[in-house]
Amino acid sequence: MNTPYYPQPIFGKPSAGVVPRVFAAPPKYVQGPGVLDLAGHYLGTLGFARMGIMASKRGHGAEAGRVAASLAESGIQSVPVTFGGECSLEEIDSATAELRQGNVDCLIAVGGGKCVDAGKCVSVRLDVPVVIVPTLASNDAPTSAVAVIYTPEGVNAGAEFQPNNPVMVIVDTDVVAKASERYLVAGIGDAMATWYEARVCFDNPRASNVVGSRPTLAATAIADICARTLYEDGEAAAKAVREDEVNDALERVVEANTLLSGLGFESGGLAAAHGVAGGLTIFPEVEENNLHGELVAIGTGLQVALDGDDVEADKVTEFFARVGLPVHLEQVGIDVADTDVMDRLVDEVMKFGPLKNIPRDIDAEAVRNGLLAADQRGRNVSARLGDSPFRALRAS
Ligand SMILES: [Zn+2]
Repeated sequence: MNTPYYPQPIFGKPSAGVVPRVFAAPPKYVQGPGVLDLAGHYLGTLGFARMGIMASKRGHGAEAGRVAASLAESGIQSVPVTFGGECSLEEIDSATAELRQGNVDCLIAVGGGKCVDAGKCVSVRLDVPVVIVPTLASNDAPTSAVAVIYTPEGVNAGAEFQPNNPVMVIVDTDVVAKASERYLVAGIGDAMATWYEARVCFDNPRASNVVGSRPTLAATAIADICARTLYEDGEAAAKAVREDEVNDALERVVEANTLLSGLGFESGGLAAAHGVAGGLTIFPEVEENNLHGELVAIGTGLQVALDGDDVEADKVTEFFARVGLPVHLEQVGIDVADTDVMDRLVDEVMKFGPLKNIPRDIDAEAVRNGLLAADQRGRNVSARLGDSPFRALRAS
């Protein structure tokens, strides 16, 4: 019998009147330059004989190919399956059907955020554990048990909550350093939101994290050090990627973008920032031209506006502008003067469940005013500091 998957978080039981503290994480996280070629060594410790490898066509000729070679050296067989590019139910079903013939006892997903999430969904349908090998540090997906589902057209279509986190996450910092700087910077946007959302959840006793429980001290501390790491090392890490170099700043920021951001959002909790990021994907051009973390950066603007904390709002907006993240809506392709577009965006944000983690009633008017206030703050910062880092990343 297959392991079930769930449209709702699993561990919270608010209806029974008891909301436990739950912390979810993968048992092992491995990060360093060149670790891809040691995948067989690390994965050999799990005792699997035949592992599926899901990656894009390009990935099979690159990173996933290196994982397969390393598995072979360790005497582990592998079965390749191609990821077509969208984490949609259609793609998940077809990869599942293909891998069923292959009799695998574990699945390794090698790629970006959508491939990683699709790998989680396929693994649960096959009733086998999943290993994640992210090739970018652009998002918070690798460590979590949550997968964001999209329509075949790329519009956000909800989430699946898996019963287990990945059994191992392996991040090769050489691979991340060779990817475009824009991906690392997008990951910084995604990771920075972690703290601003987690602190809302921690401070509000009625709030719950992504596994449906109260956040632990551990998750909140992780979200805190995530933001501090990005403020300290974010710019130096982006420079390292620009220069194709792995240094300590890059190692720390890759850890922040992947491990700290992933544990921090899942066990610390979400609020408004990810609601904006999801909501913005209903506009096809916005979805096509921006990365998840870039849209989360825009959402962080709303989060700090709703918090009413001007000092933090200025600090985070200025930081985003310096690393080249978008700080106002026009930069992601939204015309704030278009009331129809703004109405649709506000509607989408209002549908986002974790918005209720904010400890006061947030109505559509508050969301609209918050988005406009964040947009104006972003424009002011952009005028003061310039937008050349943003334009440079878009031109790359
Ligand atoms: Zn995210």
